Amino acid sequence: MSSAITYPFLQQQDYPMIIDGNSVQSDETIETRNPATGELLGRAYLAGVKEIDMAVTSAHNGLGRWTALKPAERELAMLRFADIVEEHLEELAVIDTLDNGAPLAGSRNGVRRAIAHLRYYAGWTTKLTGDTIPSSIDGGDSFSYTVRKPLGVVAAITPWNSPVINMMLKVTTALAAGCSVVVKPSELTPLSALRLAQLALDAGIPAGVLNVVPGVGRTAGQALAEHPGIAKVSFTGSTAVGRAIIESSQHNLAHLTLELGGKSPDIVFGDVNIDEVVPMAAWAAFRNSGQVCVSGSRLLVHSSIYRKFLDRLTDFTQRIVVGNGLDAGTELGPLISTTQADRVEGYINSGVNEGASLITGGQRICDAARPTGQFIAPTIFADVTPDMKIVAEEIFGPVVTVTPFDTIDEAVQMANATPYGLAAGIWTRDLTTAHLTSNAIDAGMVWVNGYSLYDPALPFGGHKLSGYGAKSGREAVEECTQIKTVVMKLPKS
Ligand code: NAD
Repeated sequence: MSSAITYPFLQQQDYPMIIDGNSVQSDETIETRNPATGELLGRAYLAGVKEIDMAVTSAHNGLGRWTALKPAERELAMLRFADIVEEHLEELAVIDTLDNGAPLAGSRNGVRRAIAHLRYYAGWTTKLTGDTIPSSIDGGDSFSYTVRKPLGVVAAITPWNSPVINMMLKVTTALAAGCSVVVKPSELTPLSALRLAQLALDAGIPAGVLNVVPGVGRTAGQALAEHPGIAKVSFTGSTAVGRAIIESSQHNLAHLTLELGGKSPDIVFGDVNIDEVVPMAAWAAFRNSGQVCVSGSRLLVHSSIYRKFLDRLTDFTQRIVVGNGLDAGTELGPLISTTQADRVEGYINSGVNEGASLITGGQRICDAARPTGQFIAPTIFADVTPDMKIVAEEIFGPVVTVTPFDTIDEAVQMANATPYGLAAGIWTRDLTTAHLTSNAIDAGMVWVNGYSLYDPALPFGGHKLSGYGAKSGREAVEECTQIKTVVMKLPKS
């Protein structure tokens, strides 16, 4: 580890789980390494069936402690949690960059979003209401109303690509609804989740409300998803694992929020300022080395500007600085693992073999400064067809395809020609074009003249194979509650 990094949390060799406010060890550990250098960061204790059971029991205890607080007290606790996370913003960003390789600026942004979510959802603790409903039962008078109750224990199962924000999207909405949480972070990036659980305790969130149990998906993840003590699984990850979670829920009938894969279109019309849009379209595709669920990986560009746009995009892409996320000036970091780099390289080879034109990139970068073999140059393909794997499948790497179109109908047809429906971008100065296109695109989030624009108040969730349920906005809190209806017969006077 760099000698400049002196956070006590990062000086540990072994990272215990956090269950009921206690540090818990198990018989098994997993190494976590910096994908930029290969350096060992430490070993996280892995949860097995026994530790998952302990964590769910702890969360039930935590649920009692959390709901015993008045809504305004829970609001204050979440606001204190936000303040403490803000005090540790740099530390949390460094932890994520060391653990998953993302450039520090991106990791900081993830922590800032987590803080904004904590503050926004703290407000919801005092604003969840039911209805009073006119009813005529047995022809007599009655007073009927609904109340929103916390669902119970929420299992949060998260991927490795943006660990802090992926976890906190789930934690903040669950806490606002009065639920307690068991977080199972990705086995590849367990560290920031453990640190956040410590900070929650420091903020006065009662023990057991936020438990963190790193573990392997097929053992700990599955044991958590099918545990009879959980009320909901909030899952972010691949569509394949999303299907496995649906199967697990057949046992416990847990509510599900599934945030799954994507293959998002980014549509550029002919009336844009090319110099302004090229960098934003490039970052929509390449940010975090393309390991972003909403990555704008299918660029559709109007034929009137296609050639010029592709040339400028190529020039911009070739100047992107790929390196260690901790180094000032790095714009793209490594991929999370050798397996993921092999997978992305496989897609690039398939693109070449299937006849696409490789415009730039395509190669692995490996040298003294980038020694792990996990760096891949940002890659552009042109002359692609819809049946090619690089167009049809989610790559989750720094690879974009660029395709010309002539009409709005053609752009929309290509944009929707995917089993996914997570996000889409539209770039135009024409209001009619913007409305017609955004209305016709089948995706959970459509950005016009921007990309990856988030606010905790805005609902966001996938369509089609990108999943269901909201991960933000009022809807996300309400999905962590259940309605109880009370019917009160009134005596005849
Ligand atoms: P993954 O599906 O392999 O793993 C995600 C999590 O599920 C991990 O914690 C893993 O341990 C766990 N898991 C694996 N098998 C399990 C099982 N059988 N039961 C329960 N849990 C299990 O995904 P990944 O490789 O970590 O992340 C990449 C994927 O995540 C991509 O497909 C990407 O699109 C998706 N993603 C989606 C969003 C979104 O908001 N829609 C956001 C980020 C990432």
